[in-house]
Amino acid sequence: MATRLRRNLTTASVAGASEAGTSVSRTSVSGTSVSGTSDASGGGTAVADRFGDAAVRVRGLRRAFGDQVVLDGLDLTVAPGEFVALLGRSGSGKSTLLRVLGGFDHEVDGQVLAARSRSVVFQEARLLPWRRLLPNVTLGLTGRDAGERGRAALAEVGLSGRERSWPVTLSGGEAQRVALARALVREPELLMLDEPFGALDALTRIRMHALLQRLCRRHRPAVLFVTHDVDEAILLADRVLVLTAGRFSLDVAVDVASPRRRTDPAFDRLRTLLLAELGVDDLPESTH
Ligand code: ADP
Ligand code: MG
Repeated sequence: MATRLRRNLTTASVAGASEAGTSVSRTSVSGTSVSGTSDASGGGTAVADRFGDAAVRVRGLRRAFGDQVVLDGLDLTVAPGEFVALLGRSGSGKSTLLRVLGGFDHEVDGQVLAARSRSVVFQEARLLPWRRLLPNVTLGLTGRDAGERGRAALAEVGLSGRERSWPVTLSGGEAQRVALARALVREPELLMLDEPFGALDALTRIRMHALLQRLCRRHRPAVLFVTHDVDEAILLADRVLVLTAGRFSLDVAVDVASPRRRTDPAFDRLRTLLLAELGVDDLPESTH
């Protein structure tokens, strides 16, 4: 029987009030101030419990909206530094899971443990239009070195010299790079991305894939990457999950030699398997 989680579990699970406060402030959302505010006001269901052997450990997670059960007894473990891609049909509950892990949704049953420092990147960069790039990146950061860290993060995503630019002057790809900088400046143990490149053109996406891979090699966060793009999942992830009817119907390691090429037969086999699991294996021949 699942245990009902309470909002104050975050506070209860760490040593003291000041540490609990730190855990909240270190949960960064590369998003709107609304998300930040809701986070700062309430702690989170995704329990900020320190444990060394996993970045995420979920057991029996259930989330329903009225009669609609979206997550139905879901189990998930993500190791530190592991890159997990999450696929699923539209409406299967991918964003719901990320909201729970981010600590923005408390109406769940089950055990939810996540690394204390975690960041979320959404499909839209969600930059504050009235702030220049550097304060967008350092939003919520404390410490005298915040500016320096922000500048370093912008440099890492190739936007050195743009610290004083306004968000409105950015292309979609540049805005997402700022969102990545904002997420990584906090050195999260868990980085969650919800279809982060879904709105970008194909060439920009390829560049963003390379950038994300570089950043992950350097910072080694555990990554939970939601996408609807099977090839993107195979290119980037160590492991791919398919969410179906509230649970993972497939959990498969990506065993494709690096650098991964779409023309590799192993790539093609995995693509076929994943498309079948997603129920799109009846595509006309020309789209394969
Ligand atoms: P995905 O990200 O996989 O496309 P979501 O997690 O956004 O799917 O949504 C899963 C299901 O839960 C959808 O049917 C959606 O309509 C429903 N849902 C999500 N959030 C809410 C909410 N706040 N209230 C009611 N239904 C919701
Ligand atoms: Mg979604």
